[in-house]
Amino acid sequence: MKNFDFSVPTKVLFGEGKLNELKDYLGNMGKKGLLVTGKSSMRKTGVLDRVIKLGKESGVEIIVNEGVEPNPTSDYINHMSKLVRKEGCDFLIGLGGGSPMDAAKAISLLAINDGVIEDYLPGGKYEDMANVLGALPIVAITTTAGTGSEVTMFSVITNKKTKEKPGIGHQCLFPVLSIIDPELMVSVPKHITLSTGVDVLFHALEAYICTVATPLTDMYALEAIKLVLENLGDVLEDGSNLEKRSKVAWANTLAGMAIVQASTVGIHGMGHPIGGHTNSPHGMTMAALGKAFLDKTYDGDIDRYSNITKILGYDCEGLSKKECAAKSGEALQRVLDRFGAHVTISDLGVKEDMIETLAKDAFKTMGGCMAVSLKELDVEDAISIYKSSL
Ligand code: NAD
Repeated sequence: MKNFDFSVPTKVLFGEGKLNELKDYLGNMGKKGLLVTGKSSMRKTGVLDRVIKLGKESGVEIIVNEGVEPNPTSDYINHMSKLVRKEGCDFLIGLGGGSPMDAAKAISLLAINDGVIEDYLPGGKYEDMANVLGALPIVAITTTAGTGSEVTMFSVITNKKTKEKPGIGHQCLFPVLSIIDPELMVSVPKHITLSTGVDVLFHALEAYICTVATPLTDMYALEAIKLVLENLGDVLEDGSNLEKRSKVAWANTLAGMAIVQASTVGIHGMGHPIGGHTNSPHGMTMAALGKAFLDKTYDGDIDRYSNITKILGYDCEGLSKKECAAKSGEALQRVLDRFGAHVTISDLGVKEDMIETLAKDAFKTMGGCMAVSLKELDVEDAISIYKSSL
């Protein structure tokens, strides 16, 4: 059996009503924290006020900034890191979806390290993260079931100047505390439930078809796929169904733990550049590329891809294993169509003359994901996958 290491050093509070337990932990984080969130949803739903109140009850001061945009930018991170230093904050809270959680992580990194966030992105002077001193403690309160950021060591930041959208990763970016309370997700509108739910599916799928999968990540990934297939459709029909929301939230947590120990592959690797150049909803960039990616790579591991075809519900009766593996892209597309996630990269704003840049960006900024795909890929392969997805 394959050897592997495993560690998710985050205290996870999972379940309905778990937000209330925040007050039991905040006091241990320090005296003053910066909470970052998006422009309106957390205020409108009353969740922001609840968190501020819980802060007061635990005797900590919480400074609030509601300026996180979807796909957070380097400019925002650099600006907020100055504020954190000036205010002498002891910890960060990211409240919302992946964007506020990732922003909190990146700000916490800059709070005690030199430079601007671009220095830590690919091509920057600290890109190897070798001399990182640590980060301020991060509390992640997720309100979407999508990115898994609440249990990962990754932060995804869009470089405003280059339009690149790389992920950075470091052990110090694991949140110390994560709250996954499905009650906070009931207000997520249908189109965001879809794009985030699709992201969960891709995290799990990609963790299963990467070279660094382990028995443990396979277990997480396969359970997460099953939970999404069984529950996401019902949540899309009725967003107030808390039991089903909980199951998709659990799939999200499992898939996040799977990618942190294994990895995503070229689907995320090629999806990020689309997000960087078009600001598209993250999950839909994967939906647009998934079939073409599987069609291109299925012969990299016939066993794993044929398993995926069957798990996605395709009947392989009468087919050889190789024929079954070759159907993985079609099986995935059927699932996406059933959820209403039929999308092309043209729909997301990609034009044919952007493709070469996107393909090069994928290898420059997401090279780690490109490298662990089960079939070796080069820039020409990426170009052909993008072209098939137009
Ligand atoms: P998001 O955080 O950008 O939020 C999308 C929209 O949903 C926002 O307008 C927000 O206001 C709204 N929203 C969030 N919660 C809501 C709620 N409870 N009710 C109503 N509206 C709500 O979306 P996301 O998909 O969660 O995160 C995407 C970001 O996460 C991207 O930048 C992506 O690259 C990144 N990401 C990070 C990781 C990681 O491991 N760090 C993994 C995957 C993706």
